[in-house]
Amino acid sequence: MMNEKKVCIIGAGIGGLTAGALLLDKGYSVDIFEKEQTVGGRALSVDMSSQTLDSYKQTLARFNTSVVFSEPPLEELFKKKMFEGYTLDLGFHMIGSGIVVKLRDILKEYFENITMYKSRLYEQKNDHFGYFVTTADKIAMLPNIARLLLSGEKTMKDLDTVSMTETIKKYGNGKMKIVLEVNPRLISTINNLDLISTGEVFRTQKDMRLGGVNYPQHGLLKISQTIAEYIEKNGGKIHLNSPVSKILINNKKAEGVVVADTEYLFDIVLSNILVQKLFTIADELQFPKEYATTIKALEGTGSLCAYYSLKKIDPQLLGKSFIFIERNIGVDGNDAVGMIDFISAKEQTGLSPPAHYLVQSYIICTPKEARDTQILNKLKEALDKNLERIIPQYHSQVHWAIYPSVWHLDGVAKTLVNTKPDIQTPVENLYIIGDCVKAPGIGINCAINSARIIQEMLSTSV
Ligand SMILES: Cc1cc2nc3c(=O)[nH]c(=O)nc-3n(C[C@H](O)[C@H](O)[C@H](O)COP(=O)(O)OP(=O)(O)OC[C@H]3O[C@@H](n4cnc5c(N)ncnc54)[C@H](O)[C@@H]3O)c2cc1C
Repeated sequence: MMNEKKVCIIGAGIGGLTAGALLLDKGYSVDIFEKEQTVGGRALSVDMSSQTLDSYKQTLARFNTSVVFSEPPLEELFKKKMFEGYTLDLGFHMIGSGIVVKLRDILKEYFENITMYKSRLYEQKNDHFGYFVTTADKIAMLPNIARLLLSGEKTMKDLDTVSMTETIKKYGNGKMKIVLEVNPRLISTINNLDLISTGEVFRTQKDMRLGGVNYPQHGLLKISQTIAEYIEKNGGKIHLNSPVSKILINNKKAEGVVVADTEYLFDIVLSNILVQKLFTIADELQFPKEYATTIKALEGTGSLCAYYSLKKIDPQLLGKSFIFIERNIGVDGNDAVGMIDFISAKEQTGLSPPAHYLVQSYIICTPKEARDTQILNKLKEALDKNLERIIPQYHSQVHWAIYPSVWHLDGVAKTLVNTKPDIQTPVENLYIIGDCVKAPGIGINCAINSARIIQEMLSTSV
């Protein structure tokens, strides 16, 4: 089913790879150029045994991440080979159930190569833990949940300009209030409820199928590696260590790319790079001035993550994911939401050496806060305090703990004031895909959905 059109994708992030797989299915010839030596982009998992202090720091820096606290210091961790046998993502990662369904649909039998571990969301109550939303809560909230699941796109559109603050004022009673305070923050990775669109949250919640959270065996990179395998087995080409230095644009029409001083011509160019960096490889003068100014000013989202390696863990915690809300912590939005995950502590995930239990966690902040030492100190305290609530004596069980801060978690924050750009650019045959663009959801969900949209757009234009 070849349609003989040649597509070039700049970047082998999860968005670029998914687009590659979907366009191959439609008969396009696909070449993906990736500047790094591995696929995956920000959905990266690092084999820590193969890292040095410098290589680890450089890898993190290339993805807008940096370890801001470490116990013991990073130098000592590498010197004493304390990371031996660990696989760490850039920072905390978790994927929703809706994403898993989509990946299965895209990868077909290749999906069998990915083993997923799943958890419902838990919370630490005073002296015990339980589901964040219990069956009794669900029954109490049933009329509202049913309304959400049954409401169509028209209702969502009406709610697009309504902030979560307003929605909570109207519907936030009992358990519903806390659910409305926590879920939208988790879904958007933004703490400020004034900035979160109700329509967007409900749309995403529906798209995510209200399921639990999932994490793949051997780290998140396994997903990108499996899509890459699918692409290569189906005739697509992935060129690693191949940074695109220029997008060839003539008379506002994209015609190809330059890689290592060589020009390659293509019918269609898809950019999967952080959209704010588009004009480092595309001539700004080929775009309307206002478009370029808006794109360059777009904000991402941030977080402070923590990885704790523990010597012992209550077996009841293994495989479970907890959420928490830290009140009055002084961040934008005042309260901050985070997660502490013990799926990564399960031996079967293969992320740590035997009898070393890896706990991953994160707390949401803005990109600016992710670089503010004072705020980061408060966020670290909140992470430690919430782990302590779940494991009171955890301090005596720590092999090591590191705290990576990230200021480009989502490529572009989806808020009432920060609008994600369209997939179609003002330049003919040039499209942008990934988590920076207008597609349902955020993060990996947005990146995958953008790939599904470009597949549809190009199919209808053939
Ligand atoms: C620490 C952290 C935690 C996160 N947690 C979650 C989470 O729990 N859930 C979730 O859904 N999302 C999470 N995210 C976001 C998620 O990782 C991203 O949304 C997703 O990986 C983005 O994929 P992408 O394809 O849009 O872009 P990217 O992954 O950024 O891929 C872009 C690719 O382009 C390449 N590139 C850049 N410039 C060039 C060039 N000139 N030439 C060639 N290649 C180039 C890059 O190397 C990269 O591989 C997290 C992100 C981080 C950093």
